[in-house]
Amino acid sequence: MDPTLWQYQFRIIMLGDSTVGKSSLVKRYTEDNFLETINETVGVDFYVHFFEVEPGVRVKMQFWDTAGQERFRSVTRSYYRNSVGGLLVFDLTKRGTFEHIRDWHAEVCEHVLPHKVLFVLVGHKSDDQGKRTVSREEAEKLAGILGVPYIEASAKAGHNVKETFELLARRIYRGLMSGDLDLHEGWDGVKCATPLALEAHRRSLPHSDPTHKQKPKCCA
Ligand code: GDP
Repeated sequence: MDPTLWQYQFRIIMLGDSTVGKSSLVKRYTEDNFLETINETVGVDFYVHFFEVEPGVRVKMQFWDTAGQERFRSVTRSYYRNSVGGLLVFDLTKRGTFEHIRDWHAEVCEHVLPHKVLFVLVGHKSDDQGKRTVSREEAEKLAGILGVPYIEASAKAGHNVKETFELLARRIYRGLMSGDLDLHEGWDGVKCATPLALEAHRRSLPHSDPTHKQKPKCCA
């Protein structure tokens, strides 16, 4: 199969304070490398990765790596609206970055309506256990409150990086298949190469009844 052929395209946004390792995570996943010093993201950087979400179903994942600084927020806000997934990243060794996660979540929720964004919460730099300032228990508690999965990862050690992105891709795919996520005209969060095939799949679901479909909630 041509590796650049895809059935679905998901736009995913990297969220979190500056220096939590957003660029390092996405570079590790898409290019399999890690640099101790990388250029600060100015505005938004763009990456692509193909992933087989189930046998025979290839997804093109587009990543928008945003700058975390306040002065770039107005640039990045315009990208929230056209995203279907978000990685909420904090640095396990910097408590303040964990405390800002609720703000990032709220900020995105506010700007995506009427669309929906699915998240994964990432405790990053798990290689640096000696400097850890956030426990797994409190991170899991926050994930429970936000209704999102939690995972710990390290771009430096290459630990749980694939798992993080694939967890998010599978969440989005499941949402799409179940009808919980919808395709809207003029919205670029999800693109489907064969929308008719998706409709046929949904109609074949047991108990599928379009009149009972939930209105899209903001985020989860
Ligand atoms: P961003 O501003 O969120 O995109 O963060 P960067 O990817 O630019 O990384 C900020 C700093 O954290 C850099 O000095 C990286 O080398 C370092 N860093 C990134 N990922 C890791 C990791 O997994 N472990 C450790 N210990 N340091 C990391």
